[in-house]
Amino acid sequence: MPSYDPDNIFAKILRGEIPSTRVYEDEDTLAFMDIMPRSDGHLLVIPKSPCRNMLDATPEQLSAVMATVQKLSHAVKHAFEADGVTIQQFNEAAGGQEVFHLHFHVLPRHEGISMRPPGNMGDFDLIAEHAEKIRKALN
Ligand code: AMP
Repeated sequence: MPSYDPDNIFAKILRGEIPSTRVYEDEDTLAFMDIMPRSDGHLLVIPKSPCRNMLDATPEQLSAVMATVQKLSHAVKHAFEADGVTIQQFNEAAGGQEVFHLHFHVLPRHEGISMRPPGNMGDFDLIAEHAEKIRKALN
């Protein structure tokens, strides 16, 4: 497996070199909105320390990230009155991974409504509105 690339886009987000719409952070993890949301409220949770994916993550990184995934799952369910929550996570290109810093997708879901197709840029004002709803649900 290739080694961790410190210039991947999520490492740049962590360093504040490129913008992101952050909704939550603690000492070990960061949650921010996906710019191509496949459902309203689609966000990503990452560890602050470097690892490519599940295959090189330490148990400590995984446990910190999963605790934040659970916290944000409750928040999006509440914020969007969702019926359920889908968690997605991809490992290496063959596994569907495009950004090589471990991340979990958190997608609020509603009965009978499919996820939108991947690869479509979201509306930035709407994403900001959704982020604010999530932040409020965390309080
Ligand atoms: P994957 O590695 O397959 O889980 O896909 C990477 C995900 O990151 C996709 O859902 C993209 O929409 C999302 N993404 C890529 N660049 C950014 C960015 N700058 N800010 C937020 N999300 C991003």
